[in-house]
Amino acid sequence: MTDTGPLNRWPSRVAVLGAGTMGAGFAHVFGLAGIPVAIVDASAQLAERSRELLLARARAYEDGGLFPVGAVGALEGTVRAATSVEDAVEGADYVLEAITEDPAAKRKIYAEVDAAAGDEAIVASNTSAIPIAQLASHVRRPERFLGTHWFNPPQFIPCVEIIPGPVTDLSVVERVRLLHARLGKQPVVVGDGPGFVANRIQFAMFKEAVSVVADGLASAEAVDEVVRGSFGFRLPVFGPFAISDMAGLDVYAGAYEALEAGLGKRLACPPEIQALVAAGRTGAKAGGGFLEWPKERRESVLAGRDASYAALSALLPEGGGQPAPAAASSASSLRRTI
Ligand code: NAD
Repeated sequence: MTDTGPLNRWPSRVAVLGAGTMGAGFAHVFGLAGIPVAIVDASAQLAERSRELLLARARAYEDGGLFPVGAVGALEGTVRAATSVEDAVEGADYVLEAITEDPAAKRKIYAEVDAAAGDEAIVASNTSAIPIAQLASHVRRPERFLGTHWFNPPQFIPCVEIIPGPVTDLSVVERVRLLHARLGKQPVVVGDGPGFVANRIQFAMFKEAVSVVADGLASAEAVDEVVRGSFGFRLPVFGPFAISDMAGLDVYAGAYEALEAGLGKRLACPPEIQALVAAGRTGAKAGGGFLEWPKERRESVLAGRDASYAALSALLPEGGGQPAPAAASSASSLRRTI
């Protein structure tokens, strides 16, 4: 691969395909970083309308102190509405696709990009769950194609999963990873597969949440209240492996027995947990589980954990920003679901 220039000057121009929820957020991020962005949508009118909306939203963010002073002026200068895919990708060395989650539509737009973009352009898809290998089979230069999975709202959620396809050039992966770090994001390179890492986990959890409501255990509002106030509350600080190590893998193994007995094989204890417990690696209390917990580290992590949780409690809005009133989790709403 030929490099397209010093990393800190790349990309010189970005094309964002699909100016909806995610695409408009991408325009904010790239535009505020001073990188010219062309947004395109299904028609020139839709792209223009999206530009107006994202400027109006930026104004609200600026007024609310979420964007720096001068953000709107900067975006007016960096974000333009393109009239077609060809117009958008003209001169762009980075193309970020964020159209509808439909493989056929994505395939069609990649053909348009292939016909119009320069050979050196890197093309990324923001797909939520379609394997990158599947999408890569429809692009002309799969070695310059990869997934970059952002989270909504992309202006504010730190993590971006970077997903190489089967033949993505390693220098392309590194270039894109560094770009996201420079944009202030938290890029994590992960493997390819349906839903990648975050959505595979998130969608499994959501499926269970829907079943809990369908089984009549709680209303949707009550499930949200329980999740955000319990294990969800910990997640800004720790991931599931650190959390399970702190709880004790022997405790988890026991809980899985009850879950399997009542809900079947799908909730049986994973063999990886059984093996760790059998080897005496029951987590933080034993010096190690999935992670290593030397004594000094354990003590400092636990002290930091408690300080973080206290600080988080003070930060959260009352009701957690729920759309429904807290009363929705009352006994009467529960009866509705049973
Ligand atoms: P959206 O529906 O808000 O926006 C998609 C936009 O693409 C629409 O404005 C639509 O008019 C436009 N579009 C459709 N076909 C087009 C075409 N051929 N040419 C140009 N524009 C076209 O969707 P979204 O939520 O922004 O999601 C976009 C992508 O990002 C999807 O792949 C989605 O799975 C993924 N994603 C979404 C989220 C999320 O939370 N919404 C999070 C991560 C990833």
